[in-house]
Amino acid sequence: MRLLLFLFLLSCAPKQDLQRTFEVPIFDEPAHEWLVLPTVKVCPSSPLSVDEVRTLFTLWEQHGAPRMRIRGDACHEREPLIGYVYIMGGINAATWPRDALGVTYFSNPPGESPLLWALISLPTADRKVAAHEIGHVWLGHANAWPHVMFPSIDGFTWTDDGWRGVEAQFFDADYSND
Ligand SMILES: [Zn+2]
Repeated sequence: MRLLLFLFLLSCAPKQDLQRTFEVPIFDEPAHEWLVLPTVKVCPSSPLSVDEVRTLFTLWEQHGAPRMRIRGDACHEREPLIGYVYIMGGINAATWPRDALGVTYFSNPPGESPLLWALISLPTADRKVAAHEIGHVWLGHANAWPHVMFPSIDGFTWTDDGWRGVEAQFFDADYSND
């Protein structure tokens, strides 16, 4: 299994340093393309319940993300199936980045070819971390603070400021949610 990752850094890192590290022009970057619209599996190891995960996906839908099927199910985490996003607990692996609060792994580099699957690894039930990692199903990091896709949890708000530009990214990728 090929693993690629997005980090979620600790809030103690200085914001200016993070902004230098992640110079991603997020507001110009369309949402990732998927081979098929994935189904979400909430694995038994997930620290969040199916209902809690559904609430977070609904939040993303309200900002332009496509509606996805979500269900609790057994997961073969070592051999992810094409067309699925797995929500799972923390994995104790050599690939876990130091200080990361949550990690999303992909079948292939987003943007190079359509995505086949993603694994979202959440060691805790922190809803802000989960909202950010779920965002990686479609989006990269934002060089904007405070923002749901800024690579530090510090300062993210659930209000409009935290979602600036997100809807346009889905629009640019031709996702429609009607
Ligand atoms: Zn991230």
